[in-house]
Amino acid sequence: MISYKELGLVNTKDMFAKAIKGGYAIPAFNFNNMEQLQAIVKAAAETKSPVILQVSKGARNYANQTLLRYMAEGAVEYAKELGCNHPEIVLHLDHGDSFELCKSCIDMGFSSVMIDGSHLPYDENVALTKQVVEYAHQFDVTVEGELGVLAGVEDEVVAEHHTYTRPEEVVDFVTKTGCDSLAISIGTSHGAYKFKPEQCHVDPQTGRLVPPPLAFDVLDGVMNELPGFPIVLHGSSSVPQEEVDAINKFGGKLEAAIGIPEEELRKAAKSSVCKINIDSDSRLAMTAGIRKVFAEKPAEFDPRKYLGPARDNMEKLYKHKIVSVLGSENKLAQLD
Ligand SMILES: [Zn+2]
Repeated sequence: MISYKELGLVNTKDMFAKAIKGGYAIPAFNFNNMEQLQAIVKAAAETKSPVILQVSKGARNYANQTLLRYMAEGAVEYAKELGCNHPEIVLHLDHGDSFELCKSCIDMGFSSVMIDGSHLPYDENVALTKQVVEYAHQFDVTVEGELGVLAGVEDEVVAEHHTYTRPEEVVDFVTKTGCDSLAISIGTSHGAYKFKPEQCHVDPQTGRLVPPPLAFDVLDGVMNELPGFPIVLHGSSSVPQEEVDAINKFGGKLEAAIGIPEEELRKAAKSSVCKINIDSDSRLAMTAGIRKVFAEKPAEFDPRKYLGPARDNMEKLYKHKIVSVLGSENKLAQLD
């Protein structure tokens, strides 16, 4: 058993409380390789932002959980080396699907876990979430639960339709489970194809597709029931058009990839939404960077020569999210 505290990591408790009060949100970026992690840590350290490093079950299988744990420990030291003496870094399990997986992560040094029982009947979701909370809280590890189902593809799980969170259930769920934060469904979704073109309308000025708005009435309903309680938004990539265009220009084939407009995320970040999950945008930025080098320098075969620019492109994206969308810049408790 390794405590996250020995690794220099923190749980989400204080940073969420501060984010709700301050009207901003903490970035939760998924990672599964060194270049992503370097870009995330550099972006967070240089902007003095707290950050959540997320590992999905698929990422854990891909990268090996032992290696990921040491990478997170390395992330703390790297942030310090970059001049951030008091980094606030969370190592979080994204979409844990069983008690055993959550326990294994907690025992390996994760400081926060999500148990996603949202696809289960309500009572089973309550029972599973409660079981994880009871284990996690013994070690001061925070737990995210979920009510409502997001559309889209998350690792191997595919959901065709949204089921919005029912505000009338949230007090009962939080009270019975003791979870520390709640992921809700208000129209965000996983992946780079969040909406079908027929769901969107065309902006007459830009000619681009604009997706239907998020269900802020559902968010308001949840906040009325649970004032000041930490709310999480999954599937909140914006699918930047310039990255999609770059990928297509350099030989890729992404058709009608559509994300959540940044204005909607800015609005959400000012509310009780204190954690916003972004994964697809980083994948797009990395792919665009690699494709550009492959297309322009076909003789290049040193991985550093294409992963390096890809990493720079991701760092730029992460900084943009922190500074211009989530508002978490300069929000570390100790800025020196
Ligand atoms: Zn998710």
